[in-house]
Amino acid sequence: MFASESAQRVSYRHNDQHGQAIGLPVGKVVCVGRNYMDHIQEMSNQVSEVPLLFMKPSTAVVDMREPVAVPTIQGECHNELEVAVLIAAKLTKVTPEQASKAVYAIGLGLDLTLRDEQSRLKEIGQPWERAKSFDGSCPLSPFVLVNSLSNNDHFVFQLHINEQLVQSGDTNLMLTPILQLISEISHHFTLLPGDVILTGTPKGVGPLHVGDKITAVLEGHLSISTRVSSQ
Ligand code: ZN
Repeated sequence: MFASESAQRVSYRHNDQHGQAIGLPVGKVVCVGRNYMDHIQEMSNQVSEVPLLFMKPSTAVVDMREPVAVPTIQGECHNELEVAVLIAAKLTKVTPEQASKAVYAIGLGLDLTLRDEQSRLKEIGQPWERAKSFDGSCPLSPFVLVNSLSNNDHFVFQLHINEQLVQSGDTNLMLTPILQLISEISHHFTLLPGDVILTGTPKGVGPLHVGDKITAVLEGHLSISTRVSSQ
């Protein structure tokens, strides 16, 4: 092993809610922007006619139970709590029905976003990776195994910062629901076992500060408490 290999890549594994390692590799993270109307409104963004997609590399993924390390010299770093979907099969150009059988587990992810940097990139028409795909930009919770997902399944989730409720979401309110989203993504990028989809954030994004206490809840399944530290 080379000394330059990132420590976080070596140490992060997908885990289940009982603390057992999941036997899937850590792959890419495909994210969707503007999937909840209340967040589109808080950002004064336009509704996207097709899902707005971007990616985080595997080097962005860290364990949410560890302190969340934010870069402190690049302006505001915002919380975006999202439902995370862990994929267990290779998916190329699949239907929502085919996608339903490939969902292995559900968890939570933080799509950490350098908001000042993102605004700068938007203004000059450049891609968002510098703002959203940096090392550690994707803290993931342990996953709840589901084996498959139907259109009737929905998830309620919350983010508390310093005991204050700041984000409250329900996957029933997504503009593009989970199975349609996986199908759409698979028509552009093949998904592999171990890849993760982040499904968009509801309103309530805002700057994180070193020392903040974060609690992320997937109702009925998970409650993860962690702290914000500096990178
Ligand atoms: Zn997001």
